[in-house]
Amino acid sequence: MSSLTLDDHLAASSQSWQDYRNEGSFEAFVEFTLSLNGLAECLSRLRLPGLVRQCEELESAALALFGDPDTHPIVEQSALALNRQIEGLFRTVASARQSGQVSQQVIETTTTNRTVEWVKPRSVWMIAPKISAWASSLAEQLTFYGFRVHRTRWGAPMPDIEAPFAILFLPATDSDGSESVRRVSIQQVTRIRAHCPTSQLFYVGVPRTLDTMVTLMRAGIDYTVQRDDRMASLLSRILDMVQTREQERYRVLIVEDSRVAVTQIQRALEQRDIHSCAIPDPTQLFEMVDTYSPDLVLMDMHMPNCNGVEATRALRQLPTYQALPIIYLSSETNVALQVDALRLGGDQFLTKPFNPVLLAATVKTTVERHREMQRASQHDGLTGLLNHTAAKADLDNRLRHMRAGDRLCVMMIDIDRFKSVNDRYGHPVGDQVIRSLAWLLKGRLRSTDLIGRYGGEEFIVATPDIDLQQAYGVIDQIRAHFANLPHAHTEGILRVTFSAGIAAYPDYDTPSNLIEAADNALLDAKGLGRNRVELAAHG
Ligand code: GH3
Ligand code: MG
Ligand code: MG
Ligand code: MG
Repeated sequence: MSSLTLDDHLAASSQSWQDYRNEGSFEAFVEFTLSLNGLAECLSRLRLPGLVRQCEELESAALALFGDPDTHPIVEQSALALNRQIEGLFRTVASARQSGQVSQQVIETTTTNRTVEWVKPRSVWMIAPKISAWASSLAEQLTFYGFRVHRTRWGAPMPDIEAPFAILFLPATDSDGSESVRRVSIQQVTRIRAHCPTSQLFYVGVPRTLDTMVTLMRAGIDYTVQRDDRMASLLSRILDMVQTREQERYRVLIVEDSRVAVTQIQRALEQRDIHSCAIPDPTQLFEMVDTYSPDLVLMDMHMPNCNGVEATRALRQLPTYQALPIIYLSSETNVALQVDALRLGGDQFLTKPFNPVLLAATVKTTVERHREMQRASQHDGLTGLLNHTAAKADLDNRLRHMRAGDRLCVMMIDIDRFKSVNDRYGHPVGDQVIRSLAWLLKGRLRSTDLIGRYGGEEFIVATPDIDLQQAYGVIDQIRAHFANLPHAHTEGILRVTFSAGIAAYPDYDTPSNLIEAADNALLDAKGLGRNRVELAAHG
């Protein structure tokens, strides 16, 4: 997790800009650009898309003036323009704070671990010219999954309430072509984007044309949703955003014999909150990848004992590291040699002397993509929840880090008589029932709770910081809601129930004991008639 707060980043940006204005050196400008990187990243971690956008615009404006040592200090006119943009950004941050949007988000992402109080409903605004049957049904479903929905008409004055988690623009769907998306909506979107910099903006019903999508995104829309997308995919996207993950800090291993290069690289990475570790040659490479477990390796091409290409080739022989991103650092400009090096296992080249901003950005995006791929392999395709293996690993990890006095409850949930749902209504209806339960859990549990799909129609949940009785209260309420949730099938609706068993740490203190005890309690619940929650006896 990152060590710097939003205030630290704001102060760093402001200070580095002052330093540049005083000194006018290229180095000071590099410093300033890097500080904007850090700020943008922090805003993005806090999930403030409107502010990220504004900060990135500022960063792009600064990068356009990057030039080289001879072009600094930049002309006064450009400096004043940048200054205006900086002031604009700081003003937006300040006003978002004043209206509680920033601090609220900060609290949500940092202290949920300690709060026992259950989630307050997240609010969603629906902005629609007229309320269609589709919109009503969407609102109903969102309410079911734990959102408070506030509907307002297209062009109506802004509701005078706290900015919501998400805003959905739903234009009239009938005769509405891409032209009207442009004319009517852009102003509306721009106005709301400025008013709610922290909310996620969805525009639903966008024709599949590039220029319309680009126009909407420029106006501040975060997600455009196609017309023919089903309601299910919209719901699942909104619910996915609820589960914010605390990102671990990125780790980079630098294999480089030049002390000067290492210092420069580490500084550039540090500015972006990326942790790094350096070794002067590949002799300790295997040991380091095992113990430090980097997200990426920066590999010098030329080192005394063994060159970077050979080391990369050797590392690729180990199955665990076949996909680990490796970027070569080299002053090599011979294209044939570069191509050869890539063929032997590297992913990219950065040529020395490197631009620190480009280096940090390349590292960051490469790690991001790599982590995204790993994430995909840990999640279940139908529900988006952690899969069996990943859920178990997560539980193991939580138990390894338990300290005296910590609490945790493990729940096993199994849908009742699910085989008959499949038999009577077909597999696709069964799938939708499984997905609904996954969404209900995601919508109703905290972002710090573990939720996994343990098997076909079986789920595992782990809730830190609460005792058995509190866990019972939470899951029993979800049980009652689920039992009431209507599921559509071709001839009407059906209702389905689930049973659950709960076991608590430290009554049971290993992952397998907790799971077994919760499973036994689940069996009790089934035996006692289903659609109920049972607690494991104290171990
Ligand atoms: P009980 O109340 O005792 O749990 O009865 P049950 O019918 O739910 O129990 P059982 O475990 O025998 O049946 C589970 C069924 O779930 C069997 C399997 O066909 C179905 N199933 C498992 N995975 C999926 C899936 O991904 N989609 C669908 N549609 N069905 C699945
Ligand atoms: Mg070297
Ligand atoms: Mg089962
Ligand atoms: Mg079952």
